[in-house]
Amino acid sequence: MLISNPKLALLITEKIGKNWINNLEEIKQLERFIDDQNFCNNWSQIKYENKQDFAEYKQQTTGIVVNPNSLFDIQVKRLHEYKRQLLSVLHIITLYNRIKKNPDVDILHRTFIFGAKAAPGYYMAKLIIKLINAVGEIVNNDPDVRDRLKVVFVPNFSVSIGQRIYPAAELSEQISTAGKEASGTGNMKFSLNGALTVGTLDGANIEIREAVGADNFFLFGLTVAEVKALKSQGYNPEQYYTYNQELRQVIDCIASGYFSPGKPNLFQPIVESLLGKDEYMLLADYQSYLDCQERVNQAYRHPEYWTQMSIINSINMGKFSADRTISEYCQEIWNVESVTIDMEAYSQEAAGLQRYCQI
Ligand SMILES: *Cc1c(COP(=O)(O)O)cnc(C)c1O
Repeated sequence: MLISNPKLALLITEKIGKNWINNLEEIKQLERFIDDQNFCNNWSQIKYENKQDFAEYKQQTTGIVVNPNSLFDIQVKRLHEYKRQLLSVLHIITLYNRIKKNPDVDILHRTFIFGAKAAPGYYMAKLIIKLINAVGEIVNNDPDVRDRLKVVFVPNFSVSIGQRIYPAAELSEQISTAGKEASGTGNMKFSLNGALTVGTLDGANIEIREAVGADNFFLFGLTVAEVKALKSQGYNPEQYYTYNQELRQVIDCIASGYFSPGKPNLFQPIVESLLGKDEYMLLADYQSYLDCQERVNQAYRHPEYWTQMSIINSINMGKFSADRTISEYCQEIWNVESVTIDMEAYSQEAAGLQRYCQI
């Protein structure tokens, strides 16, 4: 946060002093400002400025124009089928189809930001990246959309680019199939920086939801037990396809080649994977995910309420500090004591941070 979100770090320090930097649990002291209108305004203003900074970076590096007044809905992480970037794509196409059906439909303005690398030999992962870009090409350039939806793929996702993205995030997509994510760490970075999570009961999402409270977390999807039960009784994705009209239209749309002009079969492997085995159960979670995103829309239409939830997320991330984890290991497992390190010997940035912490 000190490096990547300096404005928020400064606001926090102005309110509660600097001890939170070395002991993140102290960030909880911000609780007493939760009804302080001035503090809440400062908090949301900083989020807005971080969004502007990202928009400027995106425009300068790629020419793509991003509206900082839209909801920043972000999924950045390795590209893997279990992480279900594709579920977010199904959501985007659903919204797009609603606009095509009724161009005047009242729809929350959203910018969908993806960043992900695929392993070199992972064919499906690469095809999903291709689909995200292809959907962006159509959605972003369709005059009916009128810039209400925008799909942005950030190439070469890395920690340095993450430092621009996490501080600008409002909605953190943590939508893996329950039982597949060991922990996740991106989920913590987002929440600390004031994003709200839309997520399944998987990995550290479970502890994050406990820490921030169920009211401040957008939960959807099957649980681990439900995934198991559904698989053992013989999961049939085609049933969802047959009985859910919007879902059927989305999949038909991909299958028709709508997003791959001149190459109608390009995304056929994705369609076959969904209607065949659907190993990661996207079709089973589709409606629950859409309903949850509708709750997100409702909440976002009340900016003061949203800001309070954002603050609550951030101030309850104390236990997710790596410092806390390591010091517990030192005491309980390794039986070692801390030593002082001369940071100047390492790097200028580290030295600068250490001075900042000691002010
Ligand atoms: C945090 C981080 C990840 C891990 O993200 P998850 O959402 O936990 O999978 C991956 N890549 C980069 C560059 C990160 O900063």
